[in-house]
Parts: sequence; structure tokens; C-alpha cells
Amino acid sequence: MAEKFDAIVVGAGPSGNVAALVMARAGMKVLQLERGEYPGSKNVQGAIVYAEALEAVIPNCRRQAPFERAVLEQRMWLMDERSHVGSHFRGGGDDSEQPTRYTVIRANMDKWLSGKARDAGALLICETTVVELLKQGDRVVGVRTDRANGDILADVVVLADGVNSLVATRSGLRPPVRAKDVALAVKEMHFLPKQTIEERFNIPANEGVVIEMFGKITKGMVGTGFLYTNKESISLGIGCMVEDFKQAGVSPYQLLEEMKNHPSVRPLIAGSEVKEYSAHLIPEGGYNAIPAVHGDGWVICGDSGGFVNSVHREGSNLAMTTGRLAAETIVQLREEGRECTSANLRRYRAALEQSFVMKDLKKYRDVPDILHGNRQFLTTYPELLTRAAHTMLKVDNVDKRSKEKEIKRDFVARRSRLGLLGDAIKLVRAFR
Ligand SMILES: Cc1cc2nc3c(=O)[nH]c(=O)nc-3n(C[C@H](O)[C@H](O)[C@H](O)COP(=O)(O)OP(=O)(O)OC[C@H]3O[C@@H](n4cnc5c(N)ncnc54)[C@H](O)[C@@H]3O)c2cc1C
Repeated sequence: MAEKFDAIVVGAGPSGNVAALVMARAGMKVLQLERGEYPGSKNVQGAIVYAEALEAVIPNCRRQAPFERAVLEQRMWLMDERSHVGSHFRGGGDDSEQPTRYTVIRANMDKWLSGKARDAGALLICETTVVELLKQGDRVVGVRTDRANGDILADVVVLADGVNSLVATRSGLRPPVRAKDVALAVKEMHFLPKQTIEERFNIPANEGVVIEMFGKITKGMVGTGFLYTNKESISLGIGCMVEDFKQAGVSPYQLLEEMKNHPSVRPLIAGSEVKEYSAHLIPEGGYNAIPAVHGDGWVICGDSGGFVNSVHREGSNLAMTTGRLAAETIVQLREEGRECTSANLRRYRAALEQSFVMKDLKKYRDVPDILHGNRQFLTTYPELLTRAAHTMLKVDNVDKRSKEKEIKRDFVARRSRLGLLGDAIKLVRAFR
């Protein structure tokens, strides 16, 4: 006879850890299964973690979490092959306001958060892969693992198994992830002495800089690059949609190499020692790619449910929030003596709709399609804008009005007046 739990959580990333923590804290008998050697061993992230989402389950998280640096400064770069134009934001609210974004090393973060779930009473078993869901009719009643006699029963299964979500796909609970809805990101960790990082980025101890990069570095593919400062390392990465990689025949590694040699990036990583290289998928299909999020005896959260806001590069906070909302729904139903049927679990969907998660994903629902259909935003405009900056800032005895005329001519020649108007309308529609 298979052992039975109140809940099984598949995966020990941010969504699974928060779900396990919330349910265990409420006194439920929770089993968490993780295929990696330890939580975080298989996970890749930039990585910025958003404290508010964590604070919702661990109120004093800022004092205990293994944060690297509080993000003090955000730079956005629009790049052509040799230069960039950009914006800079440095600072925060008033002195009483705490930072909301921190860089982290995912392996440290996942281990720490998983420890909290275990302290609350969840049983974590690593090196165990869930291969399929056990069903009675349409109702999920447990999981089959890759261990001998590995069937385990539960009243509800929380799917928090990351972007591929093979368990849900194999069981027909969600369609397979499409190449057009998923990005492939590669990342390197560049190690430098703490003092070098602080001098190079003009930052005090424990505070950091984030640089988000757009434009020609992705060779017309929909994607972005990033650079995040940790205590003694820099996370540097780039990602594009899988469909675009397939069509362009460009390898992610080649993109990263070219990005590292870009004149704006190269000096920031000069002299560093590269110790880690990783690649991972990110679900970036947005609102339109979100599958059914609950059914009889199951809920889905985090990357496995496609909860990533690619416009703002937020994923871990959506993962933690969806994990929390799923777990709170289950705890509430249990307290009311109700079963985790699909009808009762509708409350999870309702909670998602009320939260920033669905509100933000809905707001940007057209962005993926607009970027796919309008590559000029990733190629032509970065080039035009960097050239415009170059023209205006070059001191060459040409009067400024003539320079403005030259810039206007440049824009109209590349996009036409009607094209410029159309692009402006598309941008407003995408981000309104
Ligand atoms: C390069 C990169 C940079 C990113 N940068 C950021 C960032 O800066 N900020 C941000 O907020 N988000 C970022 N993200 C997104 C973020 O990492 C994810 O949104 C987040 O990790 C999702 O958490 P999760 O718990 O849903 O899934 P995951 O973190 O993927 O965890 C899933 C877990 O399930 C386990 N698992 C999978 N299948 C099984 C199975 N069958 N049985 C048992 N266990 C299983 C996995 O081993 C894993 O531990 C980035 C992602 C990438 C790839």
C-alpha cells in the first residue's frame, strides 16, 4: 500500500519551496520531491530576487536570506554593434524604505528557502524524479517516482517542476511548451575581487548594479542580455526565444561571446575568472501561454505554469507568489473540510487574478507577438538611436539644427513617416 500525504510538492525551486513552507506551517503532512542532488543544484537564474514576494512568507527575510547585494542602480542599454545609449536610475525611496531587489546565487538561495520549508515540517527527498501523476479517472491522487516502489499518494499535488513541466505535459494536464513561448538563456559567472567590483561600478559594499541590455546584441532575435553584480562575481548572460535561435542558426554561446567583446561590456569584466557556465529555458509566452492552472487534485505554479513577466525580467517573485497562493488555497479548503476538487480550486485562479501576477501578465499580453512581428525595435531603432546620440554629441563645427535635420532624415529613410507613426502606435499599445 503506497504511503499517503496531505500534499506532494514536485520541485524545490522558489515556487515549490514556498508552497511546501506555507502548507507545512499550517500543519499539513507535506512531501517535497526534488530530482536534483540538493535544492538549487539544477537551477539557473540571473539572479535578482524580489524581497516583497519572499517577505510575504518570511517577514524578516532581509536579515537572514543569503542576499548578495541590494540593487542600488539600474541601467538600461540600447545597443548597436559598438556603442549604446542608455538610461540610469540610482537610489531608492526615502531612507526608511528598504530595497526590494537583491542579487543572489541561486544554489545558496534555494538551499536556504528549502531549509525553511523543512524547519516547518515538510519532508524533502532529493535525487527523486517524479515521472508521472497517478490518476483515478480524471482525479490526480499521487505521483509515480523513479524509485523502486515509488508510488506515493496525496490529497493534492502541487506541480512546481519548472519550465518544461514534463510531469503535467505527460499527464495531459497542459500542452507541451512551444518553441515560440520559451527563451533559452546562457549565463556565465565572472569572478573578481569585491573591491574591484565596487570600484568598477562605483558602488558601496553590499549594494549593486544591474544592467539590462537590448538591441543588436541579439542579432534581431527577441531577447535581452543582462549583467548583475554579486559580492565577488558578476553574472553575465543573454537569452533569446528558442524559435528565433532555430531560425537564425545562431548558437547562444556565440551570442554570449560577442556580447562579452562588446566595447561597453568588455571593460566591466576585464581580468575576471570564469568559473561557471549554464543554460536554461525561461517561459516567456506571457498571459496567452498560461495553461489551465488547476484541476481535480492538482495545481500548477511558477515556471511550470508559465508565470514569468519577461518585460520586467521577473520570474522568481511570480514563482513564490503563485506557490504561496496555491498553498494558501489548499490550506483554506482543508480548514473548511472541503476537498481539492477542480471546482473548489477555482479559488486559486481567482486569487491569481486578484494579484499583481495576472494583472501584470495581462497588461503585457501583446508584447511577445508585437516584438515577434516587428524586429525593427531590436535592430533598426537601437542603431538609429545610437547614431543620433553620436551625431548630436560629436563636436565638429556643424550647427545643431543641421544635425537634427540629419537625424530626422536618417529616421525617415529607414522607417518612412508612416512607418514611424505605426511603430509609435504599436509601442504604446504593447505597453499601455
Ligand atoms: C538565465 C536566467 C536568468 C533569470 N533571471 C531572473 C531574475 O533575475 N529574476 C527573476 O525573478 N527570475 C529570473 N529568472 C527566472 C527564474 O529563475 C524562474 O522564474 C524561477 O526559478 C522559477 O521558479 P520555479 O520554482 O517555478 O522553477 P525552478 O526554479 O525551475 O524549480 C523547479 C525545480 O523542480 C525540479 N524538478 C523538475 N522536474 C522534476 C521532477 N520531474 N521531479 C522532481 N523534481 C523536478 C528542478 O530540479 C527544480 O529544482 C531567470 C531565469 C534564467 C534561466
